[in-house]
Amino acid sequence: MGEDVVAPYLWDRGFRSLDVVVLSHAHEDHSGGLASLIAAFHPREVWTGFTPNGPEWRAVRDKAVAVGARIMPIRAPSQFAFGGTAIEVLAPAPDYVPLDEPKNNDSLVLRVTFGQRSFLLTGDVERGIEQEMAFTNELRPSDVLKVAHHGSRTAVRKSF
Ligand SMILES: [Zn+2]
Repeated sequence: MGEDVVAPYLWDRGFRSLDVVVLSHAHEDHSGGLASLIAAFHPREVWTGFTPNGPEWRAVRDKAVAVGARIMPIRAPSQFAFGGTAIEVLAPAPDYVPLDEPKNNDSLVLRVTFGQRSFLLTGDVERGIEQEMAFTNELRPSDVLKVAHHGSRTAVRKSF
């Protein structure tokens, strides 16, 4: 998918390099195409949620190391400016304990604001994490919601 779809799309739009790529979590449907994108676009940084060791993560990690990208696990709560955007990190929470296998709730959740627009990127977090975020004052309205876990029944409460 990275090599056949995403990379040609980015080339077609005139992108020749990327500053950062973000991996929500280490499931294959999120990480599978990333190694080829890293090889093609040589990002300086790879931002991640939790990434328990497994073949999918090792492929991404090894490619990042090969191109000299810095791997940066990112944790909530934090806020920082990047390239004209304001980034709020909403998950994983400080008390989240990952398991040995990759899980949906390992996901990095970012709220990205650019100008007057904001985007909530939820990875595959499940209802419990959505609820935690909804009950903190940190979660503010967003213009665009990338629904969690592909809109499946494990996520996306109506109230969220
Ligand atoms: Zn997924």
